[in-house]
Amino acid sequence: METILNVKGLTKSFGPKKAVDGISLSVIRGEVMGLLGPNGAGKTTAIRMIMGILTPDAGEICFNFGGRPQQLDKGKIGYLPEERGLYDDARVIENLLYLADLKGRPAREARREALQWLERLDLGDYADQKLEKLSKGMQQKVQFIASILHRPELVLFDEPFSGLDPVNQDFFKEIIRELQDGGTTVLLSAHQMNLVEELCDSIFLINHGREVLSGKLQAIKESYKEHLVELRYN
Ligand code: ATP
Repeated sequence: METILNVKGLTKSFGPKKAVDGISLSVIRGEVMGLLGPNGAGKTTAIRMIMGILTPDAGEICFNFGGRPQQLDKGKIGYLPEERGLYDDARVIENLLYLADLKGRPAREARREALQWLERLDLGDYADQKLEKLSKGMQQKVQFIASILHRPELVLFDEPFSGLDPVNQDFFKEIIRELQDGGTTVLLSAHQMNLVEELCDSIFLINHGREVLSGKLQAIKESYKEHLVELRYN
């Protein structure tokens, strides 16, 4: 099976603290992989290294876009950061079009699709509002749209469901499924086990920056649940 992302021996310390300690993982094209672990396990640090935001102390990150190995290409990746990264004093539509432009999406297409997404996520009336006027949950939906508007091959969602009510969690879940049906690969970190089980084909569980367990969800379902109980994670 073709992989879209290969990570080997990824390591990052902050002072004496090893946040990520030699993890290796491969994400198969077209799958949804869940990156799980308790608070402080190293999930966000790993995702930030994959996104090129943090420089690893050691390890390799290799992408495989359009069938050939290559380095990071931000136009082909979508990213929903844990801490939101939009402009508060810009309008919702401006935020979306600015990011789509940075990723190389033609303006007219991006505008049409941004408005469709806003409509679908019940934000149709807010396109011209300044972002800061929206609730946290609404802002997260805008960030979610921003991460997929340029039609990436691979999307990294860092805690996409946190702070969302169940209706919006369902919206996100439905859209992640649609992305997968359209061939997009997804790596997501999440705490909500029910959502992880409904969405993920495979999981990668980390604790103290190290792999605890990984594999196809079906194959390791019982053992990973035991680990989660041990880690008091759920
Ligand atoms: P959470 O689910 O709480 O977001 P996480 O699994 O994403 O946790 P990280 O945010 O990657 O974990 O943090 C891993 C460890 O690295 C933690 O001990 C954290 O305190 C530490 N850490 C992360 N970023 C920094 C930083 N910029 N400076 C110092 N320590 C950091």
